[in-house]
Amino acid sequence: MTEILSPIERAGLIVAHDGEHPFDAVVPPIFQTSLFTFASMAEMVATYRGERNRFVYSRTTNPNVRLFEDKIAKLEATDDAVGFASGMGAISGSVMAFIEPGDKIVCVRHCYPDAYRLFETLLRRFHVSTTYVDGNDLDAVAAALPGARLLYLESPTSWTMEALDVAALAGLARAHGAVSLIDNSWATPVFQQPITLGVDLVIHSASKYIGGHSDVVAGVVAGRQELIDRIRTTISPYLGAKLAPFDAWLLIRGLRTLPARMHAHEAAGLAVARRLAGHPKVTKVYHPGLGNSLPSGLLGTSSLLSFEFDSSVDIPRFCDALKLFKLGVSWGGHESLVVPALVTLQQNAGPNSAIDFGVPPTMVRLHVGLEGSDALWTDIEHAIGAAVGG
Ligand SMILES: *Cc1c(COP(=O)(O)O)cnc(C)c1O
Repeated sequence: MTEILSPIERAGLIVAHDGEHPFDAVVPPIFQTSLFTFASMAEMVATYRGERNRFVYSRTTNPNVRLFEDKIAKLEATDDAVGFASGMGAISGSVMAFIEPGDKIVCVRHCYPDAYRLFETLLRRFHVSTTYVDGNDLDAVAAALPGARLLYLESPTSWTMEALDVAALAGLARAHGAVSLIDNSWATPVFQQPITLGVDLVIHSASKYIGGHSDVVAGVVAGRQELIDRIRTTISPYLGAKLAPFDAWLLIRGLRTLPARMHAHEAAGLAVARRLAGHPKVTKVYHPGLGNSLPSGLLGTSSLLSFEFDSSVDIPRFCDALKLFKLGVSWGGHESLVVPALVTLQQNAGPNSAIDFGVPPTMVRLHVGLEGSDALWTDIEHAIGAAVGG
C-alpha cells in the first residue's frame, strides 16, 4: 500500500505538479481525443499483448483522467483509482465488480437514496439481496454479516449525518471475509481517509466537494491494486460510464483548492449549525461536529447538515423566503442550497421505492456554501420569521 503522504508531498500533489505537464505548463492541457495512434504495427501488437502500457482509447483511459485518478489514489493513501462519469457510476461499477447472483449485501441505513434504489431495483433483478442495518449498532452489523459478499458503508450518512465507527465496521467486514466499500463524498480525503481505517474501497461523488463548483458530474473509486484492477478490467470497459477528459480537467482544478474550500466550508457549516441549535424554533440539528470532540476517524466536518423545525414553522414558506440558499438537490459547490425532506419523501413514494429512510417530513437539509456565514444566517433568520404565524 502507498505510504500516507507527508504534508509537503500532499501539498505538492494538490497544488503543484512537478513533471505533470509538457512545456512546464502550470495547468495540464486537455487531451480532448477519443483515441491515440501507434507509430508502428510492432508497437500496436506489443500494446495489445500487454507488453506495452500506453494510451489507446479514451473509454479505457486518457491522460487527464489518469492524472486525476493518480491524485485521488494518493490523497486516499492507496494504490490506484478509477474515474467514472458520475458518483452512481462509481457505486454501481464498484458493487457489480464483486457480486454474483445469490449474493447478499449488508448496507448501513440512511445510505444515499439512489444507492438504495440500485440495490432494491437493478440488483434485485439479478438475485442480489440487501440487508439494511443501523451502522451504529456493531452487534447488529456483526449479526448480519455472515455470508455477505459486501459491506456497503456511508459515513456520515445521508440526511441524518450519523458518523459511524468506520474502523470497527471495516474490521467486522474483514473478519467475515466481506469486501468493504464506503461513500466518502461528505468528508472528502481532507477530513476522512477510510483506507487508513481499514476499508477496502473508497467511493466519491466527485460532483460534490471534489469538483466544488457545481459544473461537473463525476465519480471515482480508490483502493488497493488488485481490487481496482478488477473494476478496471471487468467492469469499466463494458459499463462504459467513463470519466471524460474535460471533466477530469475540471476535477483537477477543483482539487487545487479542495483543502482551502473544506476548511472554509467547515467553519461556515459549524457557525450555521450552532446558531440553528440555539434557535427556539429548531428542535434538532444533525451535524457530527456539534459535540465536544469529533467522532473517531473524522478529521473535520463539511457543511452539509440537516435540522428539524417545530410545528409552528411552515417549511414551504421558509424555503421560498430564503434568498441566498437556493432550492436544489446536490451540494459541495460554492453556493448554498436547501432541500426539504418532504420533497424527497414524495419521490420515495414513487414506483421505484418501498423505502423508509427514517427521515421525518419536518427535516430540512442545508448545504452551507462560501457566501459568508453571517450573511447566510441573516438569510435563515429572516426566512424563519417569514414562515411563522399567519
Ligand atoms: C450525489 C451523491 C452520490 C451520487 O453522485 P452523482 O455524481 O450524482 O452520481 C453518491 N453519494 C452521495 C452521498 C451523494 O450525495
